[in-house]
Amino acid sequence: MEQKKSKLDSIIIPVMMITPIIVGPEVVQSIFEKGMQYAVMGGLIGGLIGGLAFYLSNKKSNLTKILTAVFVVSSCFGILIYSSSRTESDKRNLMTCIICGYKALPKEGAECEVCELSLTEEEMLDYEYSNMKEFIREEQLDFSYFEDDEFTLNGPEVYKYDNLRYSKDPHWKPVISQAQLDSLD
Ligand SMILES: [Zn+2]
Repeated sequence: MEQKKSKLDSIIIPVMMITPIIVGPEVVQSIFEKGMQYAVMGGLIGGLIGGLAFYLSNKKSNLTKILTAVFVVSSCFGILIYSSSRTESDKRNLMTCIICGYKALPKEGAECEVCELSLTEEEMLDYEYSNMKEFIREEQLDFSYFEDDEFTLNGPEVYKYDNLRYSKDPHWKPVISQAQLDSLD
């Protein structure tokens, strides 16, 4: 019996303690930013969670230990999946770009991180448009036209650029129509 118990412990304790230590750095880095100090912080938080789980379930029944381990592991992966699904737009609370409709503007008048345009008088003149309306319309057509085939005016929901992901604002309304866009083909 003693033998059996320690065998269970030898599986459960490492799983319960190591999973949060492995997952912690990933979660903390995806919430804040990449960097050694965040990885270390995540590892420490993971270690504390693992240690706490061990402390609470130690000397309890085998069932309690198993349930605690299952809870810790499934919570870790749940949080990992949630945090890695967050886009730049969510993480940095970015504003919606009028031209492309992605939440990719760090602030008003800044350059959009998706379409790389800034909606300013200066940029409008640089591109030789006579007014903002024309600027928005033409650049919307351009942006949508040069994207791949899967691209529609309102999609894709998430725009991938290198390792970064941006969300489309579901409330954004383009000034051009899909028919106008299709007629460019
Ligand atoms: Zn944009």
